[in-house]
Amino acid sequence: MRYNDTPAKSAEYLRQALPLMTKQHTALHPVSYAVWYEYVAGINKTLKEQVDALTAQQRLLDEDTTWQLYCRHIADINEDLARNISVEIDQVLTNMANSAEVAGDQASRFGNSLARLAIELAQNDTSGLAQMRQDAHEMQDAVSTLKHRLEQSQQEIKRLEQEVSLAREDALSDGLTGLSNRKGFDLALAQHLAKLNDDSRGICLLMADIDNFKKINDTYGHVFGDKVIQTVAEILRTNIKGSDLAARYGGEEFVVILPETPLEGACALAEKIRSTIARSRILRNGQDEVLESITVSFGVSRYQPSESVKDFIVRADRALYESKHQGRNRVTVA
Ligand code: GH3
Ligand code: MG
Ligand code: MG
Repeated sequence: MRYNDTPAKSAEYLRQALPLMTKQHTALHPVSYAVWYEYVAGINKTLKEQVDALTAQQRLLDEDTTWQLYCRHIADINEDLARNISVEIDQVLTNMANSAEVAGDQASRFGNSLARLAIELAQNDTSGLAQMRQDAHEMQDAVSTLKHRLEQSQQEIKRLEQEVSLAREDALSDGLTGLSNRKGFDLALAQHLAKLNDDSRGICLLMADIDNFKKINDTYGHVFGDKVIQTVAEILRTNIKGSDLAARYGGEEFVVILPETPLEGACALAEKIRSTIARSRILRNGQDEVLESITVSFGVSRYQPSESVKDFIVRADRALYESKHQGRNRVTVA
């Protein structure tokens, strides 16, 4: 559990958090309270540093900033996992340091023995040779133990790397559909845009929103609604390839990044996905009852040099809403 404070202590934090929270340009919702609770409780160092930096010079937090603070510093942290991995890495490093120290001591003893033997041999005294053989054996043992321990540490580190990478994948994917989530999309888009150069064929964005989805939920229930979301996600997944990335942007909204794709190509793909979804039939409860077709509206935008990420997305979004406005189940280009 993230919070282990006694009722009395938490009441004290509430008293401290309230005046700070009410001062901001953010409504007093649980997200905002979580941010300020963690701030005054001093249990979240990076959050505190960020809030201090943001609120310096009397700046106040708005809804967007509060939400971003919450997502970045509270919601996505898998604390136990992060703590375990950090403890294990410490352990591996300590083991490696200990083994290196033992081998180092042995090497320095061996060095002394060698020096001694050199002097004795210079004086034609060979009595130390037997001891030398013994020391050489011990040195060999120490080196092979060190080698073994280093191999073990390497394996440990590889395992920890895999764990981190799985946790990262988990944090960037959407539980219902297995597509990337909003955060995964943000990261991928930023990476693609950073790689753009003059030779690039450009990058396009598809925004998609299931039509009249509220009615589907209201008529058939949320469980079936979820099935519809999963079906649309599956059609998106099977229609993209290579470095394309499909993500669930929000409830029943999706977004697809198409790197190295001209606008005509992006439109053709949107059209293909649109018609595939419109033609598909979803069964309810494994029964024969087939639904009216599900349809999806699309907006397509092509990245324009030097425009902001936000504008790139907003243009696709506006095109999508134009599709809705024109009667849904269609593709509109920004
Ligand atoms: P439009 O054609 O204009 O997009 O109409 P709409 O009904 O699809 O749009 P609206 O935004 O009004 O409704 C979206 C609905 O999606 C509302 C919300 O309850 C539902 N929804 C959001 N996320 C989920 C989810 O994860 N599962 C289910 N079953 N429903 C969801
Ligand atoms: Mg919507
Ligand atoms: Mg919709």
